Formats: sequence, structure tokens, C-alpha cells
Amino acid sequence: MRSLDDFAYSKLAELERASLRRTLAESLREDGPWVLREGRRFLSFSCNDYLNLTHHPALKAAATAAIENYGVGAGASRLVTGNHPLFRELEERLARLKGTEAACVFGSGYLANTGIVPVLAGAPDLILIDELAHACLWAGTNLSRARTLVFRHNDVAHAKALLSENRARARNALLVTDGVFSMDGDLAPLQELAALCAAFDTWLMADDAHGLGVIGSGRGSAFAAGQSGLVPLQMGTLSKAIGGYGGYLCASRAVIDLMKTRARTLIYSTALPPASAAAAIAALTIIESEPGLTAKPLAKARAFTSRLGLPEAQSPIVPLIIGEPDAALQASNKLAEEGFLVTPIRPPTVPVGTARLRFAFTALHPDEEIARLAEAVRALFAFAPARKEIPEEIAKCPPSS
Ligand SMILES: *Cc1c(COP(=O)(O)O)cnc(C)c1O
Repeated sequence: MRSLDDFAYSKLAELERASLRRTLAESLREDGPWVLREGRRFLSFSCNDYLNLTHHPALKAAATAAIENYGVGAGASRLVTGNHPLFRELEERLARLKGTEAACVFGSGYLANTGIVPVLAGAPDLILIDELAHACLWAGTNLSRARTLVFRHNDVAHAKALLSENRARARNALLVTDGVFSMDGDLAPLQELAALCAAFDTWLMADDAHGLGVIGSGRGSAFAAGQSGLVPLQMGTLSKAIGGYGGYLCASRAVIDLMKTRARTLIYSTALPPASAAAAIAALTIIESEPGLTAKPLAKARAFTSRLGLPEAQSPIVPLIIGEPDAALQASNKLAEEGFLVTPIRPPTVPVGTARLRFAFTALHPDEEIARLAEAVRALFAFAPARKEIPEEIAKCPPSS
């Protein structure tokens, strides 16, 4: 079809002009934070494999044994014949770690969020969502058809004003936020949000994709904020610190039972392969037994922020906001020349005007390489032609000795 290809070409050209076209680069990840790309070896600061568990021998052994015993695929959705006994074990382990009555495993984090939210809210209900919440929380919210109000990022007073004005007219209300923001690395004020939700009979849901395994002694953002009971709906993924693939919700028994009978992404999508469940169980064992390991990614991120005089990292994710997409691309290319892989993050993943470098630190990043990275980042801005693009903190901070 001519019109179809014309449509695709003109869309691509438009994105190209705005430096917003994305392309896939073949990337071969090694054990640890190194990546092979186009014949070159880079130290990656763009992987979410915070505990370097993707290649851990215990996870590989668990997954290999599961493949040998149970095959490579689940064969059907969980409600048909895909509910392997490993799921029960995995859900018990997740609930234990998160301090909830029960858990439900989904095919991925994206599938979890797009499944969970529409079960909890519909047209007569109200959803409040942080403006920087992850794309799949937005997708779930949009699928729900609930009335949706957006509060300014981490602005509890704004959320309160919206609830004061609108809560009474809605049947139920749900407030959704990231626990750790995926592109900013900051934490949601879960204690304050929990108090607000209690006052307005509103259910609090936090996406802990970047919290599990790396903050709150590995138990995630609700624990970092005080305790698990703060957040009745703790969603997360098995694909970041856990090293494999899959998503989950930890909640009360009643909520979990409801998910298992109503969540469309659970009902109409094939279950995870048993090997993914087996690998995740092995990862949880490591997280529960090695508190020293779970503290490392944040410590590495803090070493970086302190070298550059940036605000202290609150999670293993450190953003460096640059502004325009082409400037972020150039900065990323410069770091690549130094052997660092730092994928630029551009709109629509982040708001227009906030294209950035996003650094993700893992337990195995060598300290001396973090020091070298910090100097490379400083050099980027020391020689930048357009001074307005120099992030304020770095402009102010003298080179470290
Ligand atoms: C990565 C991510 C997801 C999606 O999880 P997947 O398992 O990769 O689908 C959801 N929420 C946040 C905040 C994420 O960063």
C-alpha cells in the first residue's frame, strides 16, 4: 500500500528532523556491566540490572534446570494450564519480602500495570496520577476509563487540592505513582501520600520497578519510606534488580484474588515460562541473604553525585538534564568515545525540554571507572559551546582533585 508506506516515511522523517527518531542497536551484554556493540566494548550505565543478577550462576542454574524439567514455554495463560507450581512459590516469596498477604505474578511490569489499574477503577471512579509516572501506569490509567487528574511531580499539596475538590463526586479513588521515578531517580513521598490517601478514602498504588532489590534493604520503596503497610498496592517488575522477566502485584489476599479473576492481561496473555519464575525465586534468595549487595548500587550512585556536586542520589538512577534532544545525543556520543554507554533519554519518555543522560549504577561498577566517568561528564560541559546547556550544579562545582 502506497499510502501506508508514505505515512511511515513521513512520520520517520518528522522524528528524524526533531532528533527524536529511535533505532535499535544490537547489544551483547557480558557478565557484569559491560556491553559489546558494533565490535566495541563499553562500560554500560544504561542497564537496570542493578545487582548484576542477569548472569548470576545461581539464577542460570535455576532457569536451566526449569527448562530441562518443564520446557521453554508455559503453553497457555495461567487460568488455563499455564499456572506452573513455581508461581505459587514465587508469589509466596514476593509477598513475604514485601510484607503483604499475597502476590500475583504477571507476564511483565507493563502487563501488570495495564492489567491492575482497570480492575480497580472504571468510569465512575477517580484516578490521580503523578505527571512523571511511568508510561505503563499511564496506559493502565487510560484503559480504565476512570476520570483522571494529574498532579505535579511529587507535589502532595497539589494532590490534596485535587482530592478536596473532586473526591466526593467519585465512587472510588486511586492514586498512582512510581515509588522510584525511572527517569529522575527520586523517590515518591510515600508517607505523605499514604496519609493523604487515608484522609480521602483513596487507594495508594506505587510502582516499585526501580526500588525492589536496591532501596529499603532490598525490600523497596515502601520500606525505604517506613513500612510496607503504607502502600496497599505494591507493583513491581522481575526484570530489573531481579535480573529476569515478569511483573507482580503485592497486596491483600482479597485484592490478589480479584486480580486473578479479572485482570485482562493475566487472563488473555500466556503465563511466563517456568524458567523465569525459577530464576526470580533464586534472585529473591540472594536479595534476602545478601544485604551488603543490595546497598551497593545506591552507594555507587552516591559516589558519582558527590564527585560532581550533584544532589545526592536517592536511588541507583542519576539524571543529568541537558535540554534539547540533539545536545543529549551529542553528550552521549562523547561519553561513548571514552568507552561509556549512556543512552540519551528523549521525549516522549521525558517531558519536552528535559532530554537527558540517565546513569544507572550497578553493584559491579568499578569505583575507578565511576571516577573516570565523572571526569568525562565534567569535561563534556567544560567544552560545551552553548553555555546555557551546562547544568547549574556542574557549572558551580570545581573539578575534583
Ligand atoms: C521498566 C518499568 C516498568 C515495566 O516493567 P517491565 O517488566 O520491563 O515491563 C514499569 N514501571 C516502571 C517504573 C519501569 O521502570
